[in-house]
Amino acid sequence: MIPLAEPVLDGNEREYLLECLESGYLSSVGPLVERFEREFARAVGSAHAVACGSGTAALHVALRLAGAGPGKLVAVSDLTFIASANAVTYTGADILLVDSESATWNMNTQLLYEEVVRRAKRGERIPDVIEIVHVLGHPAQMEPLLALREEFGIPIVEDAAESLGASWLEGPLAGRQVGSAGEFGCFSFNGNKIITTGGGGMITTDDADRAAAARHLTTQAKLPGPGYRHDAVGYNYRLNSLAAAVGLAQLERLSNRVAAKRAIAARYDKLLTGLPVSPAPSTTWARPTYWLYSVLLDEQADGDHFVESLSGREVQARRVWPPLHVQAPYVGCARLGGDVADHIYRRGLSLPSSAGLSLSQQQLTADALVASISDAGLKR
Ligand SMILES: *Cc1c(COP(=O)(O)O)cnc(C)c1O
Repeated sequence: MIPLAEPVLDGNEREYLLECLESGYLSSVGPLVERFEREFARAVGSAHAVACGSGTAALHVALRLAGAGPGKLVAVSDLTFIASANAVTYTGADILLVDSESATWNMNTQLLYEEVVRRAKRGERIPDVIEIVHVLGHPAQMEPLLALREEFGIPIVEDAAESLGASWLEGPLAGRQVGSAGEFGCFSFNGNKIITTGGGGMITTDDADRAAAARHLTTQAKLPGPGYRHDAVGYNYRLNSLAAAVGLAQLERLSNRVAAKRAIAARYDKLLTGLPVSPAPSTTWARPTYWLYSVLLDEQADGDHFVESLSGREVQARRVWPPLHVQAPYVGCARLGGDVADHIYRRGLSLPSSAGLSLSQQQLTADALVASISDAGLKR
């Protein structure tokens, strides 16, 4: 089976893990976690980074520090992995789901901007925090959010879990990477993400006080000093040193991974020319990483049929997530927009995108897709 996304462990993972074991520092105390944080912050272009046990934990802490909590409202992308919304719910805040835009599949931030301006004029409730997800490796359109921050003081938390290494090419954020634009950026090192620690996450921020507050909350809000004194309800959310050892080795190979994903995307773009599928989103104003190369199938296509048919040909494909508004815990949430996210869900299909995907595996995938299209009786 050609896997959808599997890790590549071809760097110093073994060496750093052995160093870690020999040092005896296995917990989050010790030099490796701090080193991973320093090098990660540098890689993303943020001043500070705080390592967490998961991407979801990173989001939870960042959202809480950005002001999410009971009685607050957080605007969230409708089309995303459910962890984006769960982290908001952990804080006790309410959710406003915002529909996608078709160009990038990310939140339609212009729609959100117009709605907030309209609500503010009428004295209606506006979001207290915006959680913007950069889905599948493509940066979101940020100008409207920067304007909302400027005009209404609404902080931005970036869920960059899927988009480490992606950047903007134009506008006020030109040259900047995802995770460095908001008050906080959040990343995941789950097994299928662009770099992995087995499980883990990171919070990035340019603000030293915010970084200190995040570190404090992820370590049970324990005050410095010898006694067990805590000034808030914190969490046991720190990354351990074994994971950081793997993370350091993975990070050293990040530019290689990103280059591999972009090369895979360029080849898919070519291989799929002439087929009744739209290539993965790409724009002139951003440099995506194509974490999962995802296409839109023809209107008539049945996504489940394609997943099954490709699986029968030894290719692991996956539909994109159902939008949050159809997920049981979020069915009743307030919503903004139309049916763009539904549309992407109905037709979206992620193809094998491991950085280690070989040319022949990619050719096999394209051949399998052609055969599945012909099985489905779709026109070429
Ligand atoms: C993977 C992912 C997360 C959660 O990260 P974990 O490390 O699995 O907790 C959050 N948001 C998005 C968009 C993700 O893809």
